[in-house]
Amino acid sequence: MAKRPNPRAIKATRTYTVEEAAIALGVSIGTIRAWVKSGLPLMKSRRPFLILGDALRDFLGNRAKVATVPLQPDQLYCPTCKAGRRPMGLLVDCIPQTPKTARLFGLCEVCGGPCNRMISQTKIDHFSQIFEVAIKEGRQA
Ligand SMILES: [Zn+2]
Repeated sequence: MAKRPNPRAIKATRTYTVEEAAIALGVSIGTIRAWVKSGLPLMKSRRPFLILGDALRDFLGNRAKVATVPLQPDQLYCPTCKAGRRPMGLLVDCIPQTPKTARLFGLCEVCGGPCNRMISQTKIDHFSQIFEVAIKEGRQA
């Protein structure tokens, strides 16, 4: 699992070559090139091409926003719709993942695909008031 690059590793006031940006963020040069293709601004007035620290931080900040979809209390995350969705019939299975966390699993009321939400086990009671929760056997330690 790659950890998410930390925008704070980048100084807003300096410029980076693709190689320097990759080293500063602990990602590959290929990753930086992919970001440039998907909209990271590159200063092409002279070689080597430079990335403004400021632009890089903005770019990473926007990506982080897209990655975190805010969920309403009665929603799970549907990876097919890429959005928060109510589970069909408000029916969810609750599958313990670790001693502290559990996964709520349901079917998207829009596309019918699987959707889920990680919750703290202390919140199971709270979610039981919103959803019809069926507690399943999980990978308990
Ligand atoms: Zn869906």
